[in-house]
Amino acid sequence: MAYQHIKYPQGGEKIQAEQGKLVVPAHPVIGFVEGDGIGPDIMRACLRIWDAAVEQAYGGKRKIHWMELFMGEKAAERYDGNFFPDETREAMQDLLISIKGPLTTPVGGGFRSLNVALRQDLDLYACVRPVRYYPGVPSPLRRPERVDVVIFRENTEDVYAGIEYKSGSPEAEKVAQFLREEMKAEFFESSGIGVKPISPFASKRLVRKAIQYALDHERESVTLVHKGNIQKYTEGAFRNWGYELAREEFGECTLTEEELYSSYGGKQPEGKIVIKDRIADIMFQLMLIRPEEFDVIATTNLNGDYLSDAIAAEVGGVGIAPGANMADFVAVFEATHGTAPKYANLDKVNPGSLLFSGVMMLEYIGWQEAADLITLAYPEVVQKRIVTYDFARLMEGATEVSTSGFATALIERIKGHVEDLEARRKEREHAIERERQEREARRVAEPIAAMKASGRTPHTVGDIMSRIQTIKPGVFVNEVMHTMRANDISSVLVEPGRDGLWAIMTQRDIISRIVHANRSPARVKVEDIASKPLLTVPVDMPLHECASQMVGSNIRRVVVEQNEVPVGIVSDTDIFRIVDEFGWEPI
Ligand code: NAP
Repeated sequence: MAYQHIKYPQGGEKIQAEQGKLVVPAHPVIGFVEGDGIGPDIMRACLRIWDAAVEQAYGGKRKIHWMELFMGEKAAERYDGNFFPDETREAMQDLLISIKGPLTTPVGGGFRSLNVALRQDLDLYACVRPVRYYPGVPSPLRRPERVDVVIFRENTEDVYAGIEYKSGSPEAEKVAQFLREEMKAEFFESSGIGVKPISPFASKRLVRKAIQYALDHERESVTLVHKGNIQKYTEGAFRNWGYELAREEFGECTLTEEELYSSYGGKQPEGKIVIKDRIADIMFQLMLIRPEEFDVIATTNLNGDYLSDAIAAEVGGVGIAPGANMADFVAVFEATHGTAPKYANLDKVNPGSLLFSGVMMLEYIGWQEAADLITLAYPEVVQKRIVTYDFARLMEGATEVSTSGFATALIERIKGHVEDLEARRKEREHAIERERQEREARRVAEPIAAMKASGRTPHTVGDIMSRIQTIKPGVFVNEVMHTMRANDISSVLVEPGRDGLWAIMTQRDIISRIVHANRSPARVKVEDIASKPLLTVPVDMPLHECASQMVGSNIRRVVVEQNEVPVGIVSDTDIFRIVDEFGWEPI
């Protein structure tokens, strides 16, 4: 392709997408946009760091061939006032991968923000923000190392769709009239009106990307964050479509949180990812007090906007938070802060946000070794208190360095002792694994307490059932009683005999069918006093429906079934305890 100002770098090859996968040559061409304001300072520093990490990791066998693309003020100078030239757009599409510094939004009528234009024109539907803690970085949390999440924010719809009408305008009056007259809606006079479209298409492609990421990076869970308790047909629908997509397209490798408890007793099966959901407002609290419960987050546009900055602030602020806007393959990695014009060309600011966006990019193209070198070397430099001004003002005894000075210190570390960096990588992996195992042990030992701590409210029988002990027919009642006492349980299920029916024996049966009937437990077989047929309910039955069945049939426990096999018991005591512990909201 012939470009006007863009120069295709010699010796590089294009990254391709083939059969659903990226094919990355050893010498890929990657686009970069310097950006405005502080953009040139941080881009210059980061290009040096990324190149050094690639060189160190692959000894010259791999190398990125950078292709400069123009957007913002630098573009306007070259393309006659055009801030986002067509050839930049085409090159980003063609190269698939590029990285950009911050851009000034041109002031004046008729301009879309350049970042909005970029997202819309390339249909970059997912805004991806990994947030994790690097030792040494100042943080307001007591245990910031527990934060390690990747947020997938839907980028194309929600209240950002731009369907909004000004108070008192003829458009707002027209929409208001329709809503009042045709839809019988009630609201105050002269309201401004905004529309929040949420579609199955956009929700599902976002959740698909989040689950695929979790699988590729061996993450534990994907949490759908929504406000579905209030906005049922938009936020609630996002949640439902998320679960539907997981079931339909990733059924083999995902399970719901409900199934984690009901079918696996809290023990996460190897190779499976847990899909769960949380209400948006509680999520802010949970990310402060229990961030380790969360891993990959998929959410709608507005929730994602708030949540990404709030979580980034937990581990060092937006100054070092990386990000990317992505389509299926095309991805534009970017610094998440703005152009900070007062610091432009002072070689002063923190390059962290752009730097880690580049780390994301290296991971995205599968160059994990180079990415690891940066993430492992970075905390070592910061822990020595060699930092830019923004961190220096939050630290005692810091050595303040310039943007380029920080890059030099980091490159020295990257080129230092690689073996001990490798040991640190292993140490971090072990720490993550240890923490996973501890969480799992808590879930298995105390499922209800773990559920409460993780911010989940039980809402199905599968969530609260006790797992059952089964007994074969033919065993004498006194032996069964020993088993019940040893395991501290008040009932057992009796496997089917010749009639093919399951039965239940409870403590009550000992009173009425042994003591009251004046029989010896050593001479009566369990199936003779057990009750059948059983009242069974499916594992995903909501609690209030289960309660209705128990009241309607005047019974105190039901058997929970999955795939027609009994897997647990729910008693009125269980329901009493859950309502006391979690409260009960009318449905
Ligand atoms: P900003 O450029 O992000 O700067 C706000 C403050 O954040 C700075 O004054 C500085 O704080 C701190 N900061 C930002 N980047 C930093 C870095 N790399 N290292 C250390 N500190 C950093 O936000 P703004 O002033 O609201 O926006 C300026 C321009 O950027 C606007 O034209 C806006 O439209 C644009 N913008 C672009 C993007 C983008 O391209 N993605 C995003 C946001 C804003 P202190 O003053 O405390 O030192």
